[in-house]
Amino acid sequence: MKKSEVLQAWARILAGRKPSLSIEITKECPLRCPGCYAFDAAHLGGATELRQLADFKGDELVTKVLALIDEQRPLHVSLVGGDPMVRHRELELLLPQIEIRGVHTQVVTSAFRQIPTAWKRYGKLNVVVSVDGLQPEHDARRKPATYERVLRNIEGATVTVHCTITSQIADRPGYLDDFLSFWTNRRGVAKVWFSIFTPQRGATDQEILTSAQRASTIADLRRLRLKYARLDMPEALIRELEFPPKSPEECIFARTTQTISADLRTRITPCQFGGNPDCERCGCIASMGLAAVGHHHVVGRLTAGHLFRASDRLGRIWRGHLTKAISRKTRLRAEVSPFNILKP
Ligand code: SF4
Ligand code: SF4
Repeated sequence: MKKSEVLQAWARILAGRKPSLSIEITKECPLRCPGCYAFDAAHLGGATELRQLADFKGDELVTKVLALIDEQRPLHVSLVGGDPMVRHRELELLLPQIEIRGVHTQVVTSAFRQIPTAWKRYGKLNVVVSVDGLQPEHDARRKPATYERVLRNIEGATVTVHCTITSQIADRPGYLDDFLSFWTNRRGVAKVWFSIFTPQRGATDQEILTSAQRASTIADLRRLRLKYARLDMPEALIRELEFPPKSPEECIFARTTQTISADLRTRITPCQFGGNPDCERCGCIASMGLAAVGHHHVVGRLTAGHLFRASDRLGRIWRGHLTKAISRKTRLRAEVSPFNILKP
């Protein structure tokens, strides 16, 4: 994160706004990946599931997403799903409009569909392709977005490869090295990111790492970042994986990101995982990245995190007053409206 971006984000927080917006632009996805949190029953809090929401298409989706961005005025937007490439025609209309607004965009996809090479013209766009390990494991989990198809579909594009490390991966010595050796040698792969699988509290998914697996994975990442320049995970970020936030209240990422689901109304809380995520076993790269920014010392013992928390409190109070003032003004206007005066 650049200093100017931190300052802009800070200004948004002081104004009671969240600088980052994540939108599930569709509920549809041609894949059925095991461990997918978007289609987990807990994702929307339990009462409804993502596939039950009404979502939008075509011009209606484009207009509504842009209206949301104009209302929230974020610095960064993640377009996720389902798989946002299901709505590739709408993305063709959305991306230039978001770019014009000066907002950074991230499209997170399985690359089941061709990534247009023309998207390279967008300086503020990052296309993130999810790859679940080496070919045998990936193909078993992510069919029909197999390695063969992903490689074909990213040809000529520039992407970030993102892999979520599961227990099955962590169990195999040398696996991450082999993964990096494969992906960092490919033209068009600008960087590689790893997250560690984040469970819901009390979950027993096979993907959950043991404490020992987590520790050895972190040690591997420390070594591998020195070997592969395209592994975009600084030491400060890796350190956060050792001590993740204890709760959503402590998580700067959760507190600075608004996540909205496919009906463009439902808010996903406390973070993009929804439900009741086990923060102490969180391995989300975005959360760890912002935690690292939060631990950065600004002056003496004062960290960016201290400033953020104080600003967030102020921002919420300010927003609360503003909302009250607006509703008071609206009420007053309604009371003195000529139609009210004419009422019996
Ligand atoms: S591609 Fe993403 S949204 Fe679709 S099933 Fe897999 S993890 Fe879930
Ligand atoms: S991103 Fe991770 S640490 Fe933050 S609220 Fe979600 S699970 Fe917890």
